[in-house]
Amino acid sequence: MCRSYSSGKATVVLTPKDMFVWTGISCSRILTSTLYKTLFTRKVHLISLVDRAVPLPLCTRRIAPVQLYPKRTMSMYQGGGSNNQEDGGVRVIDMRSDTITKPTPAMRQAMAEAEVGDDVYGEDPTVNALQEKVAKLFGMEAALFVPTGTMGNFCSIMAHCWERGSEMLLGDCAHIFIYEQGGSAQLGGIHPRTVRNKPDGTFDLGEVESKIRTSDPHLPITRLICVENTQNICGGRVLPLSFLQELRSLADRHKLLVHMDGARLMNAATALNVPPSEILQYCDSVSMCLSKGLGAPVGSVIGGKKDFIARCVRLRKVLGGGMRQAGVLAAAGLLAITDGAARLHQDHDNARTIAEGIHSMDPSVLQIDLNAVQSNIIVFELVSHAVTPGQFCEMLNTYDPSDSLDVNVRVPMYPTDFKRGIRCVTHHHINAEDAQLVLKKFRVVVNSMAGMAKKMKITDK
Ligand SMILES: *Cc1c(COP(=O)(O)O)cnc(C)c1O
Repeated sequence: MCRSYSSGKATVVLTPKDMFVWTGISCSRILTSTLYKTLFTRKVHLISLVDRAVPLPLCTRRIAPVQLYPKRTMSMYQGGGSNNQEDGGVRVIDMRSDTITKPTPAMRQAMAEAEVGDDVYGEDPTVNALQEKVAKLFGMEAALFVPTGTMGNFCSIMAHCWERGSEMLLGDCAHIFIYEQGGSAQLGGIHPRTVRNKPDGTFDLGEVESKIRTSDPHLPITRLICVENTQNICGGRVLPLSFLQELRSLADRHKLLVHMDGARLMNAATALNVPPSEILQYCDSVSMCLSKGLGAPVGSVIGGKKDFIARCVRLRKVLGGGMRQAGVLAAAGLLAITDGAARLHQDHDNARTIAEGIHSMDPSVLQIDLNAVQSNIIVFELVSHAVTPGQFCEMLNTYDPSDSLDVNVRVPMYPTDFKRGIRCVTHHHINAEDAQLVLKKFRVVVNSMAGMAKKMKITDK
């Protein structure tokens, strides 16, 4: 059964396959751009045509039918789309995040065959093996497997800020500060105080020093400094070792602890071409995600001194993170820290390729700072105001029948907090050929925007 809405000279038909079919509209490039422009300037999302039966744009000529594939309503991290799969004949390359990665066949096999026990009793051999290996990798006394990065950070912060009235200093772009519900304050009673993140993910150490509290009963007790490596919001920036070294000596002077949110620590190590222990020599603790670029389905690991990890074990339990036969998950983690880490340089190369491709496109539409692309995250800026960043993302994920490229690219519908910045991320479902396809799609969209801008100027006159 098909439902159809018509208005003036155009008709939209919703087929049972959820595919929108425009009839009575030319699919020549110019009219397709007009269609886009009209849709976007009216802020009509394709899905809303069905929901609200919005009148269709008026088109003057009647040639071939136009087919547009369905737009799913999606927020940054939601959406039913599967990564890199065919979607009604259109290949979808999903660049929203490296969290969308699915376990490799080898991981699934290792999970199926994992030896397990009750990890709350410390009896899961695979979890224990993972923790030992990770502790070595980190160059730290001990490690602990936790369900998520958020829990890893939270346990670490709580373990360090054991005393009531404690305060931590951290960057104002820190994941811990922005994306973890303020859990350290909400649940832990720890006071966060921010210092301004520089675009390179570091912060001014003078500012840090100026914010360390003196001993005064009016004031909280500064206890901890948190850094993030790679720095996500700053575009996957890798913290220089010299910065970490200076931070360490500052922390030592003031008897403070340093925690690294190393969700993407292995990306930082890969970019610097050093073992992670070389980065972590300046930190008291770290939390690293196994479930991002490393490809495990679930899990993070915390590293630190033995007594710190003992506190984290207690905290993990009260937070509900004590898992039983968790070896099934740790088995994937073991492959994540070996095979997963070994291939991260490919993600970095592909990110580089995409960044350079974007750099070569019309700078009145897109701009990118190539120096800022250091790992698997690419942030570029939409400087053209012909469309909003959200609309731009939508165009990347819309099949344009006027070109022969059967590829859609998914990037977050909601761009980063920065101006008109848009973030995309490479991961193990995107290979070198895909990177070229992504660029082709970008070119199609950028060209159609150039067409739109011209048309708009003409109509303005
Ligand atoms: C993803 C992420 C986290 C949190 O990890 P979850 O497993 O999603 O809870 C923490 N810090 C940074 C920088 C991240 O990117």
